[in-house]
Amino acid sequence: MRPTYLEVNLARLKQNLENIRNHVRPAKVLVVLKANAYGHGVDGVAPFIAPFADYIGVAIVEEGVYLRKLGITTPILVMGGTLSEQLPDFFEYDLTLAASSLDLLTAAEQLAESTRKRLKVHLKIDTGMERIGVREYEAEPLISKSISCSHLEMEGIFTHFANSEVTSLRETGIPMTPASLQLERFEEVLSIYERLNEPTPGIRHTANSGATLLLPQSYYEMVRPGVLFYGVYPARNIERTIDVKPALTWRSKVAYSKITQPGRGVSYGSLWQAESPARIVTIPCGYADGYFRRMTNQARVVINGKSYPQVGRICMDQFMVNAGGDEVKAGDEVTLLGDGISAEDLADWTGTNEYEVMTNISARVPRVYV
Ligand SMILES: *Cc1c(COP(=O)(O)O)cnc(C)c1O
Repeated sequence: MRPTYLEVNLARLKQNLENIRNHVRPAKVLVVLKANAYGHGVDGVAPFIAPFADYIGVAIVEEGVYLRKLGITTPILVMGGTLSEQLPDFFEYDLTLAASSLDLLTAAEQLAESTRKRLKVHLKIDTGMERIGVREYEAEPLISKSISCSHLEMEGIFTHFANSEVTSLRETGIPMTPASLQLERFEEVLSIYERLNEPTPGIRHTANSGATLLLPQSYYEMVRPGVLFYGVYPARNIERTIDVKPALTWRSKVAYSKITQPGRGVSYGSLWQAESPARIVTIPCGYADGYFRRMTNQARVVINGKSYPQVGRICMDQFMVNAGGDEVKAGDEVTLLGDGISAEDLADWTGTNEYEVMTNISARVPRVYV
């Protein structure tokens, strides 16, 4: 196998899910497996975790189809935008539709009627993200229509927070946090059912990781933690009220070791050179693996338990590390993430967030499940 690989600790993911579950009880937990399970590898994570999840969330219908082909039988909600031409896959693979417009809901009802097949639907309300969904001030026609859709199973209704990790009013200037404002708009929508003398759908859900941590009023019947399930907090300033731990360790081995003399630039662009003879080692991993080129001369790795700086341009398939005066040789163990290096560190070195770091570890990096 390739010496560069991603070790995924499945027991840890299960423990994270259990700790989240204990915190939100009696709410159910939808486990978010989109984007290759946030880079962890859906082939290994999904079959292991599905029996413990109440629901699974994916972004696009293709991800739902993929999970069904893996043999996953847990209910799956496709949370993102769907085109009406994609609807047949929802019927064929028993996927739950996020009905984000009146047109989509109408097309789904027509298809359900003509094919005489069942389809579960969650209505998608936009309370402040301006992405997909029907705004709270225009939701009544969608809800009236949904009540008259006799061929669909109206199982849920949900919304998504734009700023769930913001806790302080000072950051917003308005007399409530952005998430509680969104929650108030969601409540307005739920009150439409009361006015129509109809029950609300059985599964109301709003909470992503930030709201799961900070806004218990947002739990309703189910929460949708993504990054938190993978053991990473959605922001730095949040108090650690749910005990979760990261499950990823990105490992490699030194592929080459040499002493580099001063005056000899290292890598493309010769952006770095040694001031005195230094041991420069090459790691067989690069930006095509998701080790961002933007981390050039910023990243650090751990070799034989000690931290060293990455030097010179990160290449597509390799990068170099300055081991100084230490005896580091080909075959020595390297850690790129884990062993004290967090997804937050890689995010800082890159100028992005932890989500992008994890979801960009490419398919060329084998996933090993322990
Ligand atoms: C991705 C996603 C989530 C999970 O978000 P986290 O911030 O990772 O918890 C929840 N709900 C929806 C609709 C999403 O698209």
